[in-house]
Amino acid sequence: MPTYVELGNDELAALKDRLEREHAEIKARGLSLNMARGKPAKAQLDLSMPLLETITTLEDCVSTDGTDCRNYGVVDGLPEAKALMASMLDDDPENVIVCGNASLNIMYDALARCWSFGTLGSTPWSKLETVRWICPVPGYDRHFGVTEAFGIEMIPVPMTDEGPDMGEVESIAAFDENVKGIWCVPKYSNPGGITYSDEVVRRLASMVCAADDFRIFWDNAYCVHHLFDDAAEQDQLLDIGHACVEAGNPDRYFKFASTSKVTFPGAGISALAASPANVVEIKKRMGVQTIGHDKLNQLRHVRFLKDAEGLAAHMAKHAAILRPKFELVNRKLEESLADVGGCSWSKPRGGYFVSFDAPESTAKRIVALAKEAGVTMTGAGATFPLKQDPRDSNIRIAPTLPPLEELDEAMDVFACCVKLAYAEHLLA
Ligand code: PLP
Repeated sequence: MPTYVELGNDELAALKDRLEREHAEIKARGLSLNMARGKPAKAQLDLSMPLLETITTLEDCVSTDGTDCRNYGVVDGLPEAKALMASMLDDDPENVIVCGNASLNIMYDALARCWSFGTLGSTPWSKLETVRWICPVPGYDRHFGVTEAFGIEMIPVPMTDEGPDMGEVESIAAFDENVKGIWCVPKYSNPGGITYSDEVVRRLASMVCAADDFRIFWDNAYCVHHLFDDAAEQDQLLDIGHACVEAGNPDRYFKFASTSKVTFPGAGISALAASPANVVEIKKRMGVQTIGHDKLNQLRHVRFLKDAEGLAAHMAKHAAILRPKFELVNRKLEESLADVGGCSWSKPRGGYFVSFDAPESTAKRIVALAKEAGVTMTGAGATFPLKQDPRDSNIRIAPTLPPLEELDEAMDVFACCVKLAYAEHLLA
């Protein structure tokens, strides 16, 4: 079969007519399907219901060190919660601070602290004429929302199969002291599903930075979110903390993780890990902000998940629900778009997304056509700073929330919209 660019205008026009009819028929069905946000499905949330039953008596409210968790205090988290989160953050419990219900919140706060106070003696970033930030693209829209909110100038850097293009990252960081940080989702990245190679991690840790207070915001949101149980089919990530220490830049990173997509998004626990010097500073400032986070929820999570092994066993149950959805998305795309040409997509081994690259200049139109047909997608451009995808090509597919049957239907609609938008574009 010829691809769309190989078709003559008459053939293409006939194809477009057929696709328009197909689209109109779908529209008439009045569908309401959603592939927009990376939320766990109900079946995944159901897995964690026993968590709610781990605290029913007075004795259940006491931590291993005897703290009555119903009361104020313990700003950096219970010892057992630190140990659990240390296993996610690949760090020692003493370098971990367990926080509230969302890691996005602690990333925002980490930036806000540097903004207001500087870090480890540096000038507060708010006092600088300009602050710039390296943003690997495509990336997580809410990261870009945080840097945008502070008025930080975002510099997009393309992702490769091994992480951000390090040649570009190094040249940006080395020569501009106003470049203060980089967003990283280093494992099963959002949306590309890419895990940074050892070389990329080492280069981030060791690169020359014009700013002494350059910080890597290491958002390991999908650290335990494999789609396969066999270790050979799971991605491995080198720890940025060790790499920074080895490179002689021990304070360069802040690591973040949460149980949002392990237990309950919005009702999980989050944590950060950093160098001893950073931890001292963060605790000092955090101690002004709060007397302590929700320790009862920390206890519930430890009792339910227990340790790294318990966590892995729980995540395998998530994977069993998610794997068929990712397989379905890939199969549908292969079946419906193989002959079209111009499209490519990721086949991740973990995480929450499939990153779809449509023919250039068609992504916005595809998302609009899908909306008309009753399928909500993440907005085109959302994966770029200021929502500006220069190629108008990337679309994030979030297959986790809809049940399989709905996903199946939604992917048919999506494929029809991709084909129609491409045919329109070639004929314009
Ligand atoms: N970081 C990444 C990369 C994400 O994809 C998400 C959610 O989609 C979050 C953070 C949000 O995490 P939390 O619920 O802990 O704020």
